[in-house]
Amino acid sequence: MDYELGNILLDGRTISRKVAEIASEVAACYSGKEFVAVGILKGAIFFLADLVRSLPSDSLVKIDFMAVSSYGASTKSSGIVKIVKDLDTDIRGREVLLVEDILDTGLTLSYLQELLKGRSPRSLRTCVLLDKPDRRRVDAHVDFRGFSIPDEFVVGYGLDYSGYWRNLPDIHVAKAIENTVKNTQPKE
Ligand code: 5GP
Repeated sequence: MDYELGNILLDGRTISRKVAEIASEVAACYSGKEFVAVGILKGAIFFLADLVRSLPSDSLVKIDFMAVSSYGASTKSSGIVKIVKDLDTDIRGREVLLVEDILDTGLTLSYLQELLKGRSPRSLRTCVLLDKPDRRRVDAHVDFRGFSIPDEFVVGYGLDYSGYWRNLPDIHVAKAIENTVKNTQPKE
C-alpha cells in the first residue's frame, strides 16, 4: 500500500497554539519540581522540542529519549514492543513525563507506562499530541492531551510514512493509493 499526501488536518499555527496550552498545564503541574520529559523517538521529537521550549524559563526540566519498535505482526496484538534505545536517566524517585506523538490502539503507550512504572519513578504522567479514540484497544492513561482526531492515517510534525514526511510543519491526512504496477504490465 502506498500513500499520497492529503489535506492538512492541523496547520502549524494551530499546533503551536495547542502546544503552548499543553505547556502551561504541564508547567502548572510541575511548578517548582524537577521532572524528566521522555520523548518517544522518532515521532515525538518536534512535539517534545516545542513543548519544552514553551515552558517558563524557571522550569526544572530535563529531557531524555526512548526509541521503540514493534516486534512484528505476530506480537502486535500483545502490545509487546522492542526497546531500541533505552533511557540514559535512572528514573527511580524522579518525576517523569512521557511524551508521545499519537495514541492509537494504546498498545505502545500502555506497554511503556508499565515498563517505566516498574522502575519506581516518584510519578509518571503522560502527554500525547494526538488521540484517535476510535482505534483504542487497551486503556492508556493520559494526563495531557492535544487533539482528538478521526481514524485517519496522518503524517507531518514528526509523524512519518515509511520514514518520510516527518519534516512537514503541518499535520496532513495521508491517503492510500492503488498500486498501479499491476496496470502497467503488458497484456497477454
Ligand atoms: P499504538 O500502539 O497506540 O497503536 O500506536 C502508536 C504508534 O503508532 C505511534 O507512536 C505511531 O508511531 C504509530 N501511529 C499510529 N497512528 C498513526 C498515524 O495516523 N500516523 C502515523 N504516521 N503513525 C501512527
